[in-house]
Amino acid sequence: MASGEKVDYVFKVVLIGDSAVGKSQILARFARNEFSLDSKATIGVEFQTRTLVIDHKSVKAQIWDTAGQERAVTSAYYRGALGALLVYDITKRQSFDHIPRWLEELRGHADKNIVIMLVGNKSDLEDERAVSTEDAKEFAEKENLFFLETSALQATNVESAFQTVLSEIFKIHS
Ligand code: GDP
Ligand code: MG
Repeated sequence: MASGEKVDYVFKVVLIGDSAVGKSQILARFARNEFSLDSKATIGVEFQTRTLVIDHKSVKAQIWDTAGQERAVTSAYYRGALGALLVYDITKRQSFDHIPRWLEELRGHADKNIVIMLVGNKSDLEDERAVSTEDAKEFAEKENLFFLETSALQATNVESAFQTVLSEIFKIHS
Protein backbone atom coordinates (compact mmCIF):
# COMPACT_ATOMS: atom_id res chain seq x y z
CA MET A 1 0.00 0.00 0.00
CA ALA A 2 1.34 3.44 -0.89
CA SER A 3 2.30 5.68 1.99
CA GLY A 4 -0.18 8.38 2.78
CA GLU A 5 -3.17 6.15 2.25
CA LYS A 6 -5.50 6.03 5.15
CA VAL A 7 -5.25 3.33 7.79
CA ASP A 8 -8.52 2.41 9.48
CA TYR A 9 -7.08 0.27 12.27
CA VAL A 10 -3.72 -0.45 13.88
CA PHE A 11 -3.52 -3.79 15.68
CA LYS A 12 -0.57 -4.70 17.85
CA VAL A 13 0.41 -8.38 17.82
CA VAL A 14 3.26 -9.84 19.88
CA LEU A 15 5.50 -12.81 19.17
CA ILE A 16 6.47 -14.88 22.20
CA GLY A 17 8.12 -18.20 22.90
CA ASP A 18 11.57 -19.59 23.65
CA SER A 19 14.69 -18.35 21.94
CA ALA A 20 15.49 -19.96 18.54
CA VAL A 21 11.99 -21.29 17.80
CA GLY A 22 11.82 -19.04 14.72
CA LYS A 23 9.93 -15.94 15.86
CA SER A 24 12.13 -13.49 13.97
CA GLN A 25 12.00 -15.57 10.79
CA ILE A 26 8.22 -15.87 11.01
CA LEU A 27 8.10 -12.08 11.24
CA ALA A 28 10.59 -11.66 8.37
CA ARG A 29 8.44 -13.97 6.26
CA PHE A 30 5.24 -12.11 7.05
CA ALA A 31 6.55 -8.54 6.89
CA ARG A 32 9.06 -8.79 4.02
CA ASN A 33 8.67 -12.30 2.56
CA GLU A 34 12.25 -13.04 3.54
CA PHE A 35 13.95 -15.90 5.36
CA SER A 36 17.50 -16.44 6.62
CA LEU A 37 18.97 -19.75 7.81
CA ASP A 38 21.68 -18.15 9.94
CA SER A 39 19.61 -15.43 11.55
CA LYS A 40 21.55 -13.63 14.24
CA ALA A 41 19.82 -12.91 17.51
CA THR A 42 17.44 -10.11 16.66
CA ILE A 43 18.83 -6.68 17.40
CA GLY A 44 17.37 -3.21 17.36
CA VAL A 45 14.00 -3.07 15.69
CA GLU A 46 11.13 -3.54 18.10
CA PHE A 47 8.39 -4.16 15.59
CA GLN A 48 7.61 -4.36 11.90
CA THR A 49 4.41 -3.48 10.15
CA ARG A 50 2.41 -4.71 7.23
CA THR A 51 -0.84 -3.22 6.05
CA LEU A 52 -3.55 -5.47 4.72
CA VAL A 53 -7.18 -5.21 3.80
CA ILE A 54 -9.81 -6.94 5.91
CA ASP A 55 -13.46 -6.53 5.03
CA HIS A 56 -12.66 -3.48 2.82
CA LYS A 57 -10.84 -1.75 5.69
CA SER A 58 -7.16 -0.99 5.80
CA VAL A 59 -5.58 -2.71 8.80
CA LYS A 60 -2.02 -2.00 9.84
CA ALA A 61 -0.54 -4.96 11.71
CA GLN A 62 2.21 -3.86 14.07
CA ILE A 63 4.10 -7.04 14.95
CA TRP A 64 6.45 -6.96 17.94
CA ASP A 65 9.46 -9.24 18.22
CA THR A 66 11.37 -9.93 21.45
CA ALA A 67 14.65 -8.63 19.99
CA GLY A 68 16.55 -11.60 21.45
CA GLN A 69 15.55 -10.67 25.01
CA GLU A 70 13.21 -13.60 25.68
CA ARG A 71 14.15 -13.69 29.37
CA ALA A 72 13.52 -10.02 29.86
CA VAL A 73 10.18 -9.47 28.14
CA THR A 74 8.57 -6.63 30.05
CA SER A 75 5.01 -5.47 30.55
CA ALA A 76 5.63 -2.70 27.97
CA TYR A 77 6.01 -5.44 25.40
CA TYR A 78 2.53 -6.77 26.08
CA ARG A 79 0.85 -3.39 26.59
CA GLY A 80 -1.94 -2.80 24.11
CA ALA A 81 -1.42 -6.12 22.34
CA LEU A 82 -4.63 -7.43 20.84
CA GLY A 83 -3.11 -10.61 19.44
CA ALA A 84 -0.24 -13.00 20.08
CA LEU A 85 1.60 -15.76 18.30
CA LEU A 86 2.79 -18.22 20.92
CA VAL A 87 5.58 -20.06 19.13
CA TYR A 88 7.38 -23.36 19.82
CA ASP A 89 9.67 -25.48 17.64
CA ILE A 90 8.18 -28.87 16.69
CA THR A 91 11.68 -30.39 16.91
CA LYS A 92 12.35 -29.07 20.46
CA ARG A 93 10.14 -30.67 23.08
CA GLN A 94 11.32 -28.20 25.70
CA SER A 95 10.03 -25.25 23.71
CA PHE A 96 6.56 -26.84 23.80
CA ASP A 97 6.81 -27.73 27.49
CA HIS A 98 7.44 -24.03 28.22
CA ILE A 99 4.27 -22.92 26.44
CA PRO A 100 2.08 -22.98 29.60
CA ARG A 101 4.51 -20.56 31.26
CA TRP A 102 4.44 -18.21 28.29
CA LEU A 103 0.66 -18.41 28.25
CA GLU A 104 0.47 -17.58 31.93
CA GLU A 105 2.75 -14.58 31.47
CA LEU A 106 0.76 -13.43 28.46
CA ARG A 107 -2.59 -13.75 30.22
CA GLY A 108 -1.18 -11.91 33.21
CA HIS A 109 -0.15 -8.90 31.15
CA ALA A 110 -2.33 -8.59 28.07
CA ASP A 111 -5.81 -7.45 27.11
CA LYS A 112 -8.61 -9.69 28.39
CA ASN A 113 -9.83 -10.38 24.84
CA ILE A 114 -6.40 -11.08 23.39
CA VAL A 115 -6.51 -13.43 20.39
CA ILE A 116 -3.89 -16.15 20.76
CA MET A 117 -2.52 -18.49 18.09
CA LEU A 118 -0.36 -21.43 19.19
CA VAL A 119 2.24 -21.92 16.45
CA GLY A 120 4.35 -25.05 15.97
CA ASN A 121 7.14 -23.78 13.73
CA LYS A 122 9.71 -25.67 11.57
CA SER A 123 7.13 -28.07 10.14
CA ASP A 124 9.60 -28.65 7.27
CA LEU A 125 11.74 -30.69 9.73
CA GLU A 126 9.28 -33.59 9.94
CA ASP A 127 12.10 -36.14 10.44
CA GLU A 128 13.15 -34.38 13.64
CA ARG A 129 9.66 -33.90 15.03
CA ALA A 130 9.49 -34.12 18.84
CA VAL A 131 5.97 -32.73 19.41
CA SER A 132 3.00 -34.46 17.80
CA THR A 133 0.35 -32.41 16.07
CA GLU A 134 -2.26 -34.17 18.22
CA ASP A 135 -0.65 -33.14 21.53
CA ALA A 136 -0.50 -29.52 20.43
CA LYS A 137 -4.04 -29.54 19.07
CA GLU A 138 -5.33 -30.98 22.33
CA PHE A 139 -3.51 -28.34 24.38
CA ALA A 140 -4.82 -25.57 22.13
CA GLU A 141 -8.41 -26.79 22.47
CA LYS A 142 -8.13 -27.05 26.23
CA GLU A 143 -6.75 -23.51 26.46
CA ASN A 144 -9.04 -22.02 23.81
CA LEU A 145 -6.24 -21.07 21.41
CA PHE A 146 -6.08 -21.17 17.64
CA PHE A 147 -3.45 -23.60 16.41
CA LEU A 148 -1.34 -24.01 13.26
CA GLU A 149 1.96 -25.61 12.34
CA THR A 150 4.12 -23.33 10.21
CA SER A 151 7.38 -23.28 8.32
CA ALA A 152 8.97 -19.87 8.00
CA LEU A 153 11.52 -21.53 5.72
CA GLN A 154 8.93 -22.90 3.28
CA ALA A 155 6.44 -20.08 3.89
CA THR A 156 3.83 -22.63 5.01
CA ASN A 157 0.89 -21.25 7.03
CA VAL A 158 2.70 -18.07 8.10
CA GLU A 159 0.24 -15.94 6.18
CA SER A 160 -2.71 -17.96 7.56
CA ALA A 161 -1.49 -17.64 11.12
CA PHE A 162 -1.41 -13.84 10.95
CA GLN A 163 -4.56 -13.61 8.82
CA THR A 164 -6.51 -15.67 11.35
CA VAL A 165 -5.35 -13.61 14.31
CA LEU A 166 -5.93 -10.28 12.55
CA SER A 167 -9.39 -11.23 11.26
CA GLU A 168 -10.37 -12.36 14.72
CA ILE A 169 -9.11 -9.11 16.27
CA PHE A 170 -11.02 -7.25 13.57
CA LYS A 171 -14.24 -9.08 14.51
CA ILE A 172 -13.80 -8.10 18.16
CA HIS A 173 -12.62 -4.50 17.74
CA SER A 174 -14.19 -3.12 14.56
P1 GDP B 1 13.95 -16.65 17.41
O1 GDP B 1 15.07 -16.66 18.40
O2 GDP B 1 12.71 -17.30 17.98
O3 GDP B 1 13.68 -15.29 16.84
O4 GDP B 1 14.39 -17.62 16.20
P2 GDP B 1 14.99 -17.21 14.77
O5 GDP B 1 13.92 -16.65 13.90
O6 GDP B 1 16.20 -16.40 14.96
O7 GDP B 1 15.36 -18.65 14.20
C1 GDP B 1 16.27 -19.50 14.87
C2 GDP B 1 16.90 -20.47 13.88
O8 GDP B 1 15.90 -21.34 13.34
C3 GDP B 1 17.55 -19.76 12.68
O9 GDP B 1 18.69 -20.50 12.30
C4 GDP B 1 16.48 -19.88 11.60
O10 GDP B 1 17.01 -19.85 10.31
C5 GDP B 1 15.85 -21.22 11.92
N1 GDP B 1 14.44 -21.32 11.49
C6 GDP B 1 13.46 -20.42 11.73
N2 GDP B 1 12.30 -20.83 11.19
C7 GDP B 1 12.56 -22.02 10.60
C8 GDP B 1 11.76 -22.96 9.86
O11 GDP B 1 10.56 -22.79 9.62
N3 GDP B 1 12.39 -24.09 9.42
C9 GDP B 1 13.71 -24.33 9.65
N4 GDP B 1 14.22 -25.47 9.16
N5 GDP B 1 14.50 -23.47 10.33
C10 GDP B 1 13.92 -22.34 10.80
MG1 MG C 1 14.57 -13.48 17.39
